Amino acid sequence: MTPSFLQYALSASAPLADWPLANGLFARWLAPGCVELNRDALDGDSILLSCGVHGNETAPIEVVDEMLRDIAESRLPLRCRLLVMFANLDAIRQGVRYGNYDMNRLFNGAHAKQPGAPEAARAAELEKLAESFFEPARGRRLHYDLHTAIRGSAFEKFAISPFLHQRPHNREQLAWLSRCGIEAVLLHSAPANTFSYHTSRCCRADAFTLELGKARPFGQNDLSRFSGIDQALRQLLSGADSPADGEDLSALPLFRAKYDLIKRSDAFRLHLADDVENFTVLPDGMLIAEDGDTRYIARGGEERILFPNPGVKPGLRAGIVVEPAALD
Ligand SMILES: [Zn+2]
Repeated sequence: MTPSFLQYALSASAPLADWPLANGLFARWLAPGCVELNRDALDGDSILLSCGVHGNETAPIEVVDEMLRDIAESRLPLRCRLLVMFANLDAIRQGVRYGNYDMNRLFNGAHAKQPGAPEAARAAELEKLAESFFEPARGRRLHYDLHTAIRGSAFEKFAISPFLHQRPHNREQLAWLSRCGIEAVLLHSAPANTFSYHTSRCCRADAFTLELGKARPFGQNDLSRFSGIDQALRQLLSGADSPADGEDLSALPLFRAKYDLIKRSDAFRLHLADDVENFTVLPDGMLIAEDGDTRYIARGGEERILFPNPGVKPGLRAGIVVEPAALD
């Protein structure tokens, strides 16, 4: 029987090796926690699944590990190139979001500004592996960076589409996300130092950060809550993915970032409950936050709060105010 990919990834002494699998393929460990399958199938889709960029977001790690096991034991046919990354191994071992520095702020070259942080070296390594994975690809280039959120959300499952600069949004991919059970998509309008922005920008992948529910420790996840993404990914990997039904996106709420709440000083006060859910509506006229003389007031009644976090250091983003958006 194949050893658990995840257990192997987490074992500090595991050598990099090629594993022969029951289906005749090889799993190649390219770096600790990074395993590639079907490398030479260049005409098929090239799919990167990353998980554990935040080490305590365990459900996607379990879902991906189970998929790898099923591929290895011939229960799931693999009809694409696949690269899986268990990203922040130290944080996964410790059950924490990150050790020194939030890894999902260190991509897009930002690792060079934090030379001391172990997460920075790892982000640089993951960038390189992603680039060499996608570089020869002739089929679709897809990257799903799988997360769970710290807090509850009015939309339990949502996706973040990184800023695309001049590229149009891929409606087929948005429709696919909707079939996965994704309930809303934030269309980012500025560059970010996230993994999905990096692969979108540098590898020209259709890349998304997927927030799939609430973060819980290993063994405490109700994996049935992840069945939508699990099944959709399995169909994608096995080539059983059906084309979108007319790519009808009318049922998928889209949002864009209107502005960031920037914490400029320790006087910053966020006037939302500590446990406020992501995508909570901000009533017209509501005082969202204040920081000395600066007051952030909700306008129009359709704005919503995303990723509120007043505990960040001054100078950093303490939340995003989003508003409904439409595709061009
Ligand atoms: Zn995360």
